[in-house]
Amino acid sequence: MSKGKCIIFSAPSGSGKTTLVKHLLDQNDLNLAFSISATTRKKREGETEGVDYLFKTILEFQNLITNKELLEFEEVYENVFYGTLKREAEELLKTRNVIFDIDVHGGLKLKQYFKSKAISVFVKPPSVDELQRRLISRNKDTIESIQTRVLKAHKEISKGTDFDKIIVNDNLDTARLKAFNVVKKFILQ
Ligand code: 5GP
Repeated sequence: MSKGKCIIFSAPSGSGKTTLVKHLLDQNDLNLAFSISATTRKKREGETEGVDYLFKTILEFQNLITNKELLEFEEVYENVFYGTLKREAEELLKTRNVIFDIDVHGGLKLKQYFKSKAISVFVKPPSVDELQRRLISRNKDTIESIQTRVLKAHKEISKGTDFDKIIVNDNLDTARLKAFNVVKKFILQ
């Protein structure tokens, strides 16, 4: 029987979700472990296999689907797949609380799967213009990829109300504190 709880963080790309997730992972008293997803996207500079993601070919990813090794998966961008590994999550949940950094559709699917064992948190950018500005300034993505992410953000923001909690990431310090309080309260419940 697994002991841990599931913390699901979803947001449009560039909302600061990953920064908040990393902050939470640094808080020892939350006993959080990161669920490492599988993806077919190319490794970015500074990323490490098995730490940020498990990087897969399309064929390898198809095998994960066929063998039912994923709790959920999404084609987050055209031809770019991301998925949550079932065994990885189950193993971590035996001893830790697990945090998932995952897209909006995947986040809602995981909440349906884990039900009351999970809290789903939507990180909302102050505006789509601000989101675009952040994506440009972090300088990680091509212009085409930024345009795709901005278009997608409009649709994703409309799904925010389906989540248990919404955190507006206007000011990073305030958002960090809110995120910590939301997670701490859920874990202690
Ligand atoms: P990035 O390419 O910027 O690392 O991630 C793109 C999007 O895919 C982010 O919103 C990220 O949270 C999401 N993502 C990462 N892992 C998973 C996963 O396992 N499943 C789903 N559905 N989305 C994921």
